[in-house]
Amino acid sequence: MSKTIEGILSRVRELGAQAFVVTSPVNRRYLTGFTGSAGTVWISESKRALLTDFRYIEQAKGQCPGWEIIEIDEMEQAIARLISAEGVKAVAIEASHVTVHQFKSWQKAFSAEIIETEGIVEKVRMIKTPDEIEKIRRAAAIADHAFAQILPLLRPGVTELEIALELEFTMRKAGASGVSFRPIVATGERSALPHAEPGNRVFANGDFVVMDFGCVFEGYCSDMTRTVLIGEPTEEHMVIYDLVLRAQLESLAAVKPGVTGRQVDSVARDIIADAGYGQYFGHGLGHGVGLEIHERPRLSQKDETVLEPGMVVTVEPGVYLPGFGGVRIEDLVVVTESGREILSSTFKELYVVE
Ligand code: ZN
Ligand code: ZN
Repeated sequence: MSKTIEGILSRVRELGAQAFVVTSPVNRRYLTGFTGSAGTVWISESKRALLTDFRYIEQAKGQCPGWEIIEIDEMEQAIARLISAEGVKAVAIEASHVTVHQFKSWQKAFSAEIIETEGIVEKVRMIKTPDEIEKIRRAAAIADHAFAQILPLLRPGVTELEIALELEFTMRKAGASGVSFRPIVATGERSALPHAEPGNRVFANGDFVVMDFGCVFEGYCSDMTRTVLIGEPTEEHMVIYDLVLRAQLESLAAVKPGVTGRQVDSVARDIIADAGYGQYFGHGLGHGVGLEIHERPRLSQKDETVLEPGMVVTVEPGVYLPGFGGVRIEDLVVVTESGREILSSTFKELYVVE
C-alpha cells in the first residue's frame, strides 16, 4: 500500500497541498484497512495517521499496520493541531465527502488554505489488486450459489418479497456479511421498472421475473441479474430475451484493455437500437464494483475512461417495455491483460418455470 500512498501524495503535491485529509469512510477503509465507522485519515510528508476515538483504538491498532493511530476527542481540533504542528500551508480535502457545514467550520479553524479535490482515491480504487479481485470473485460465487438455490422456489403464487428474502438469507448463510444492495425481484409489468422494489405481487404465468442482487464478502461487493419466465414463452418474450442476451454477450466480448467505457456501452446500445428497441434501454451498460456497489468506471456514453487490467465492471443491458415487462442480464467481469474474465458463472439461456 505504501506505493499507493506515494502516488496519492504526489497527486496532492501537484495540487499545491502538503497534506491530505480523507473523510470518505470507504476510502478510509481502502487506504488503512480500518473497518470501524468513525475516523479520518491524515497523509502528509511526515505522517500517515488514522485519527479515531477511544472506541476504536484497539481495533485500529490491529487492522492498520504501518499507520500511526492517533486518539482524538474532537476531529476538527485534531486536524487543526496537525496542520499547525507540521507547518502545512495548504491542505487537500475530499470535496464530495465534506458537508457544507463542516467546510465552513474548517475554514475558520484551520490555519492552512483548503484545497478541494475530487476522486483522488476513487481513481486509484478503479484498479483492483489480485487480493481485491479474489474477494469480489468470492462475493460473485456466493450470489451464483444463491441463485441456484432459489431456482426451485420460483413458481406461480410466490411473492417478490419471499424470493428477495430467500436470496438474502441464502447469501448470508453462505458466508456473505450482507447484501451489496437490497435485492430487486420484479415480476410481470413491474419487471419493466429497472429498479423496482420487491413487493407482495405474486408470480403469475406470462411474467418475466427480473432478479438483481449481490452480496458483500470481506468488504467487497458482487452484482448480478438474471431474468426468468413463468409459463410458456410467447414470441414477444423470446424476441426481447434473445435481443438482450445477444447485446450482453457481444458487449461482454468487447471488454478488454484499451477500449473506453463509452465504446463498450455502444456495442450493446447499437444492437438494441438496430432491433428497434433503443428507447427501451434507458440506463448505462454497466459500472465499476469494489468496496462500493457503484464505483468508477462507468460503461456509459458519458464515460471516456480507458479500461485497464484490474478494473471490475458489470455488463447489464436491459429492455423494458412499459405494461409488458422487462429483461436484464448482468454479469460481473474483470479486465485482464488479454481481455476479460467473467466472474459470474450462472447460465444465461432463458429459464422457463413450467
Ligand atoms: Zn445489479
Ligand atoms: Zn449493476
